[in-house]
Amino acid sequence: HAKKKGKNRFYWFEPPMENELRFRNELEAGIRRGVQAGEFVPYYEQQIDLDSGRLVGFEMLARWDSPELGMVTPEIFIPIAEEIGVIAQMSEQLIEAAFADASQWDPELTLSVNISPVQMRDPWFAQKILKLLVKHRFPAHRLEIEITETCLHENIGMVRSMITSLRNQGVKVSLDDFGTGYASLSQLRSLPFDRLKIDRSFIRDLNKQDSNDKLVDAIISMSDGLKLPITAEGIENADILDALGRWGKLKGQGYHYGRPEPAQRVLERLAEAGRLANDAASEAT
Ligand code: C2E
Ligand code: MG
Ligand code: MG
Ligand code: MG
Repeated sequence: HAKKKGKNRFYWFEPPMENELRFRNELEAGIRRGVQAGEFVPYYEQQIDLDSGRLVGFEMLARWDSPELGMVTPEIFIPIAEEIGVIAQMSEQLIEAAFADASQWDPELTLSVNISPVQMRDPWFAQKILKLLVKHRFPAHRLEIEITETCLHENIGMVRSMITSLRNQGVKVSLDDFGTGYASLSQLRSLPFDRLKIDRSFIRDLNKQDSNDKLVDAIISMSDGLKLPITAEGIENADILDALGRWGKLKGQGYHYGRPEPAQRVLERLAEAGRLANDAASEAT
């Protein structure tokens, strides 16, 4: 317990805590300022149809381009943004930037965005997405919303009606990081997801551990039964890709195909492949 130690207080413990607190406060302030200053930028990771090897879309992954700290990972700033109540504003900025970027791509390419459980609690969330789609004239069917199993702890009726109204607008909804949380089989059956993304921890261990391979096999046959298409995340090398070949009909993503890249690099990549919006238009004529 905190006992007053008079003049010679010995700080075994307090200074680091103070430092941590100061760092945390600075982070919070930095994130608040960053949202005002538009320092959060979208990066994009390729998503591939594994059977054909063809690029089918990108997942947008947020980065904080902080003047003090450099490029910061979302693992750090998303939880804080949720806590201090700026996640929705941050996410809207990122989604708007992503709509503008993706409008320059081949219109066959989809755009996936990650949504926080905090945003799912907003009864106007689906409306807000619709408004952004209209504002940017972005086709709803190109947009895929990724939610995690954490959302399913919340009011499940509300989550269901949210998914339903997004899908009624033509937006797709996938369940991200499947297998790491607590989605029950009955929830999987009763919630109208369009896709299930198997968490990378399962994919990484393919061909290493027989029990893991059997688990992945069980997840995939269950999804087949539910008619839920699957994405394998975290494909890091050719061996893993090869191991996934036994199932077929999968989409995948991971460092084997490429790291998340800034918008400009994506444009260069698509220009090389003849898959910019204009290329598609000139092909059609
Ligand atoms: P996630 O949606 O599951 O995204 C996949 C994460 O795995 C990304 O990390 C990606 O860079 C990483 N990854 C992809 N391929 C590989 C691979 O082959 N090996 C390994 N080891 N990792 C791989 P990132 O970009 O750091 O994002 C982390 C998480 O932050 C995301 O997980 C997502 O839950 C969250 N996040 C990112 N952007 C946003 C956002 O705009 N809003 C919200 N709410 N969450 C976001
Ligand atoms: Mg994701
Ligand atoms: Mg994931
Ligand atoms: Mg994740």
